[in-house]
Amino acid sequence: MNDAREDRGPLAPENVRRIAPYIPGKPIGETARELGLREADILKMASNENPLGSSPRALAAIRGALEELHYYPDGGGYDLKAILSRRLGLGPANFILGNGSNDILELAARAFLTSADSAIYSRHAFMVYALAIQAIGAKHIEIPAKDYGTDLDAMAAAVRPDTKIIFLANPNNPTGTFTPWAGIERFIARVPRRVLVVLDEAYGEYLPDHLKSPTQGWLGRFPNLVVSRTLSKAFGLAGLRVGFGFADPAVAEVMNRVRQPFNVNHLAMVAACAAIEDEAFIEESRRVNAAGLAQLAAGFTRLGLEYIPSFGNFIAVRVGDAGRIYDALLREGVIVRPIAGYGMPEHLRVTVGLPAHNERFLAALERALARK
Ligand SMILES: *Cc1c(COP(=O)(O)O)cnc(C)c1O
Repeated sequence: MNDAREDRGPLAPENVRRIAPYIPGKPIGETARELGLREADILKMASNENPLGSSPRALAAIRGALEELHYYPDGGGYDLKAILSRRLGLGPANFILGNGSNDILELAARAFLTSADSAIYSRHAFMVYALAIQAIGAKHIEIPAKDYGTDLDAMAAAVRPDTKIIFLANPNNPTGTFTPWAGIERFIARVPRRVLVVLDEAYGEYLPDHLKSPTQGWLGRFPNLVVSRTLSKAFGLAGLRVGFGFADPAVAEVMNRVRQPFNVNHLAMVAACAAIEDEAFIEESRRVNAAGLAQLAAGFTRLGLEYIPSFGNFIAVRVGDAGRIYDALLREGVIVRPIAGYGMPEHLRVTVGLPAHNERFLAALERALARK
């Protein structure tokens, strides 16, 4: 048995001992070792990573910064905040930089929640919300979903006197559902000002132009809004860990107090500065993703499978015995994501790949389904 865990676990508070660890997508190296395959033959479509790789401008910027690694990073993130300010029409004081946007979600919980408070999120929402709340020992309130999407009316009605945060993703992962911005705007206007609304826009770049997020224009009206965005998805920098949040300066200031002084590393900031300006790469990512979503949806329809129309870079498909199909795909070297932990035991979530990836996945899926 694991002695360290047995002996020291009881010293941790109850809320920490009850945490069910986040289970990430299965890594390529581990899969290759287990199956005796070459890493190059493994296809990972499990963690919503960018199938095009990273922004080439970001990679060039990293190469140019390698001689600077003996210095600590700029803990204030001056350059990145300057670029973000210019692009979003906000000021540097509106921003919080994070070691991935997960960090932003945790900073919000750490800055605003105590064990006497409660926080709200939707069923089928990103697992990190529940983990961040539980790490504090706050109470969590899970709101039933509506057609796999967020039920904003039920959420607003669930606010209690002890509620301090509402976590909300748009589009949501793992369902890919999108809530129209006007509804979210009315929702925030309705929620008491003492409740922080943390709006997670990890997949915002993939939205079509007419659905682009307007939330940077809302800060003046909603001093209780925190928006988080990431460089992990459309910008292709998941391995570097960099994301950011924007909020009213007073909220950003409080969140900045509880972060580690050097929470974002130097290469991550240098890469983020370049990636954010790499319009060509973002456009290509959006184009490849839209085509891939259509390809996968058409494949599912051909196979007679139900899927949830997605606004992200992934799609949840109902395959029935998801555990069996997942294993069968894995044996062919195709890694997807089971989402039983998200309350969806009959679905698998697959990340959109390049056309050949999607084709290989669909062919493997067809074989797996036929092997009933
Ligand atoms: C991928 C994802 C993130 C981004 O996480 P990072 O820490 O920025 O890599 C945040 N929220 C949701 C809903 C996601 O799916």
